Amino acid sequence: MKIVSIRTHLLEYRLETAFESASMRFDRRSHVLVEVICDDGTTGWGECLGPARANAAIVETYANWLIGQNPLETEKIWALLYNALRDQGQRGLTVAALSGIDIALWDIKGKHFGVPVSTLLGGCFRTSVKAYATGSFKRDGVDRVEDNASEMAGHRDAGFHACKIKIGFDPDEDLRVIKAVREAIGPGMKLMIDANHGYDAVEAVRVGRAAAEYGVDWFEEPVVPEQLGAYRAVRVGQPIPVAGGETWHTRWGMREPIETRSIDIIQPDLCGCGGFSEARKIADFASVHGIRVVPHVWGTAVQIAAALQFVAAMVPDPARNRPIEPILEFDRTYNPFRQAVVTEPLEHQAGIVTIPDGPGLGIEIDRAALKEFRMKDA
Ligand code: CA
Repeated sequence: MKIVSIRTHLLEYRLETAFESASMRFDRRSHVLVEVICDDGTTGWGECLGPARANAAIVETYANWLIGQNPLETEKIWALLYNALRDQGQRGLTVAALSGIDIALWDIKGKHFGVPVSTLLGGCFRTSVKAYATGSFKRDGVDRVEDNASEMAGHRDAGFHACKIKIGFDPDEDLRVIKAVREAIGPGMKLMIDANHGYDAVEAVRVGRAAAEYGVDWFEEPVVPEQLGAYRAVRVGQPIPVAGGETWHTRWGMREPIETRSIDIIQPDLCGCGGFSEARKIADFASVHGIRVVPHVWGTAVQIAAALQFVAAMVPDPARNRPIEPILEFDRTYNPFRQAVVTEPLEHQAGIVTIPDGPGLGIEIDRAALKEFRMKDA
């Protein structure tokens, strides 16, 4: 079995209303899917986190080494591609592009053996997962406090057990948002806060101390990802568990935050950290150090499917009669092609998502949707 070609599919939708996190502005949704095609007709799908065109260009660069390889040899291919760009690419887009390819190879491997990726990863511990609703971005021309509170109450009414809101804009306004959201959702729903590295350590400690009374499960990306010392200052300076990791790449990028306990919860992104091949190593390393793993998810149904297979195979840690179950990040912001790219959407039912049990990622791509949402000039 040999890889004969690789294609990228650039997708885009220009939003009617732009929205912002503390560090980014979104006036469109754009993502890139990766398709790896084999000589026996088997096709695998993956996705890359981050700027779509830049990722596509790097995926196409990797094609030089990928064509002609046996797609079942995922570890061998990962090492080959990583080594090919290592000197200028130990982290960032080179690893995101490699992630999309790796996910597609695991999809192929699952299809070849007729089993879901979770089986290849060692077995399926669960058939469904509780999702948490990610939303509350700052929308143009809207009062943030009221908007966030009503949005999160809507997610509670839809059955979600937990939600995550965006802060990191302005400490005082952010605290008003946290209070309003807690009042709107009531005491029974879990609440997480995500600063998208918008604070410095002093602000983050102040916000964490003040926010703790509203019952916050974790404080995500309080400070910029390069400042692990600041992460640790936030961790010791306020009482909410600290989460992070969506912008750290590979086992090497995750090593220092884990070893130095800069975080309580690590959030590798399957489409960014190096795919299944790397995420399993990161999860094992986190487990060795007693750090909880909650994958980051921000993409189409292809990425959701990858996260679901990974979550399915996560070993209960600690082992006990009623273990801590993994949870799935579920983006609730508008993206008309998120689920349209697959023939059977991976939607939630009352906040719970069923894990597909078909071969590979367990999804089928809707090529008409790829055409409909194709990026202009792509
Ligand atoms: Ca985040």
